[in-house]
Amino acid sequence: SRTIMTSGLTFLTVIALLAVAIPAVHGGTLAGVLLASLAFLALAAFEGIAPLPLAARRLRACAEAARRIDELCDRQPTVADSAHPKPVPPVGDLALEGVRASYGPGAPAVLDGVSLRLEPGRLVALRGPSGAGKTTLAHLLVRFRDVDSGSVTIGGVDVRDVAQEDLRKAVVFAAQDAHLFNTTLRENIQLARRDADEADIWHALESADAADWAHSLPDGLDTFAGEDGGVISGGQRQRIALARALLADARFLILDEPTAHLDAETARRVIAHIAAGARDRGVLVITHSDAGLEHFDEVLELRGGRIEQTLPSLAS
Ligand code: ADP
Repeated sequence: SRTIMTSGLTFLTVIALLAVAIPAVHGGTLAGVLLASLAFLALAAFEGIAPLPLAARRLRACAEAARRIDELCDRQPTVADSAHPKPVPPVGDLALEGVRASYGPGAPAVLDGVSLRLEPGRLVALRGPSGAGKTTLAHLLVRFRDVDSGSVTIGGVDVRDVAQEDLRKAVVFAAQDAHLFNTTLRENIQLARRDADEADIWHALESADAADWAHSLPDGLDTFAGEDGGVISGGQRQRIALARALLADARFLILDEPTAHLDAETARRVIAHIAAGARDRGVLVITHSDAGLEHFDEVLELRGGRIEQTLPSLAS
């Protein structure tokens, strides 16, 4: 209806212009050739503003989106960088020491007196019932949250004293609900390491048990993930997150349930790949399943906010 209004207004303006200009031509105050120019000028003027109604309609949606972004920007981040961050030491363990953590003041402690040490070259499994706080513990290690008391250190330096960017280069977290960007599979994996070549990417996919699937896609690595990874199933998203983590040039990997959605035999194979790919990295694997436990140097159990028992290594 706004388009019709605009067209109607254009028409009326040209008529009004002619109504004024034609007598002027007759009266000799306006050259005849200018009459046509004036009419076209009026039409051209409206062409310029014709998209405005549409723009006005979009403006409301844009203003709403801007308001939401503003709101996000105004929010206090859960963690903040220190004013004078220290470098991440090039060697040393990633460790939790006497950690208490909760979700807000007055909330019950999710972790209460947890200590854990992740050494380079060692593979540690973290088990425990759902809701035990395994993901919370993982979030502390990459500093998505801070402890209430106790400490998280990397190479002996408190993670609150290093820049988040540096910490997350050294400690890579593969979440259960990994985000995929609306670009190709290749770019989604290469995020982890820009200089990774085709062979590196396929090797990472192989280790994550996603190579066959990627091969089966009509466009292979050039397949688009869609908005928020929409065209890729949750299970495959998790495989991609794992491939990404394995490709990353990080000293520590924190993998949240990397074998969920997999049958026992595939899970065992993936754990074996993770163990082989770990090399000199320290790897913490959160897992529900018993599959592949023999590959771990240490199996920890989180229960009631504590690491209740440390099972001896099952590996020989
Ligand atoms: P797990 O990974 O072992 O299943 P989580 O670390 O996800 O356990 O959760 C531990 C506890 O913390 C649960 O009781 C859960 O409800 C609570 N929790 C987790 N995330 C939040 C949050 N963002 N806000 C409040 N409580 C949370």
